[in-house]
Amino acid sequence: MREVDCRFVEERVHQFLDGELTEREADELRHHIDACAHCLDETDLIDALRKLVRRACACPPAPETLRLRVVTQIHTVRFTVVEGPGTP
Ligand SMILES: [Zn+2]
Repeated sequence: MREVDCRFVEERVHQFLDGELTEREADELRHHIDACAHCLDETDLIDALRKLVRRACACPPAPETLRLRVVTQIHTVRFTVVEGPGTP
């Protein structure tokens, strides 16, 4: 399995949510999230994603309201990342 970086996760998290990644890419993304302290620490999004994904494995898709809330969080996180690089 390929090592991916945080940028890979940021760029693909929407597709990941929408189930548009290949199984391999999704595995790589999940693998990174599991191993990356940055992604784990910086975003509650990751936790939400993991719950969402886990739920999606066994149950019907998450309610649209939950999905929208997660997508909103994604945008918040992305703005934070864009505006605050290198700030202590
Ligand atoms: Zn990361």
